[in-house]
Amino acid sequence: MHEAGLAAYACDPAQSRGRRYWEEPAPTRTPFQRDRDRIVHSTAFRRLVYKTQVFLNHEGDLFRTRLTHSIEVAQLGRSIARSLSLNEDLVEAICLAHDLGHTPFGHAGQDALHDCMAEFGGFEHNLQSLRVVDWLERRYPQFDGLNLCFETREGILKHCSQANARALEAQELGGVGARFLLRQQPSLEAQLCNLADEIAYNAHDIDDGVRSGLISMEQLQSIPLFESHRLQALAEYPALARLELQRRLLYEAIRRMLSAQVYDVIEATRHALQTHGPKHVDEVRALPLLVRFSEEMHGQSLALKRFLFANLYRHPQVVETTNSARQVVRDLFASYMQQPQAMKPIFAQRWDEAVAPSDRARVVADFIAGMTDRYAVKEHERLTGQRLLG
Ligand code: MG
Repeated sequence: MHEAGLAAYACDPAQSRGRRYWEEPAPTRTPFQRDRDRIVHSTAFRRLVYKTQVFLNHEGDLFRTRLTHSIEVAQLGRSIARSLSLNEDLVEAICLAHDLGHTPFGHAGQDALHDCMAEFGGFEHNLQSLRVVDWLERRYPQFDGLNLCFETREGILKHCSQANARALEAQELGGVGARFLLRQQPSLEAQLCNLADEIAYNAHDIDDGVRSGLISMEQLQSIPLFESHRLQALAEYPALARLELQRRLLYEAIRRMLSAQVYDVIEATRHALQTHGPKHVDEVRALPLLVRFSEEMHGQSLALKRFLFANLYRHPQVVETTNSARQVVRDLFASYMQQPQAMKPIFAQRWDEAVAPSDRARVVADFIAGMTDRYAVKEHERLTGQRLLG
């Protein structure tokens, strides 16, 4: 029987494909609720508070971090899940875990680490998130990792190269790597988390961008998705035009923009579900992506993304700090490759046990990827005598 309130196309915890290591079911929680709880209690989750989303941690206390970003993604994901009768617990678990594999310093850190790992198989943050929950967390006596359900792991592995998918498939036949080889989709819950991620960062990066002074309200007026909601807010509350109320106007415009995107996803996805009529998650996996924006909203969201890319992520001031961040990661990688004993003992030990150069480099990548921004900066100073950030 399907869990009460769930649609036939949703992931039912009673029909989960299970965990890698068998465990007695919990008396009061479904498997997906239990996964969410394991994620919240993990070390990697607590580290998210000191990891960069866009602005580095020391640049201000009010900017999003990976942690607050993940909580906002989970909030959006859950409210959309409820409207579509999807499994809210599973959505929450995937959303809270989706960025666990991120390096310090956001995308700059990940790009630098990927370059360092070029001859050793590269570095992908999605795959790293899976490594964290499958292996790198060490807190249970019976197994490494958090031993999460297939459905949660499927959602965490958002993207994966063909080479990495083949490697995963070799370790776990028909596992979470298979869909990239079969070119199939993940569950609707997983699809939803991707879109919730996008909706969340588009909105909060506007807020953080204006807060930082790097983008202005005037610039934002060229973005139809933002401007239409700013004008609506002004029409309803003309007092918001006053200079001292600009921040409230910004919040109101963002709030309306968020709601419009949430309603749009619900509408467009309902329509897609009606058209394709999946009756089970396995049918979902064989269909095209069903959790989606309408054509129009997709275009508007893309325009906003392009704007943020050009004006915020590529802003000279952001680029300057990200260049330093890249340097920190490159120097750390080179230092540990030279003197692996400088890593934490558990990683130094793994290095000793590894034989192949690529396995040794992977140990270094795991260690660096797990660092918070400030730990990386401190380690860099300890090893090189230079303080580059903060
Ligand atoms: Mg994210």
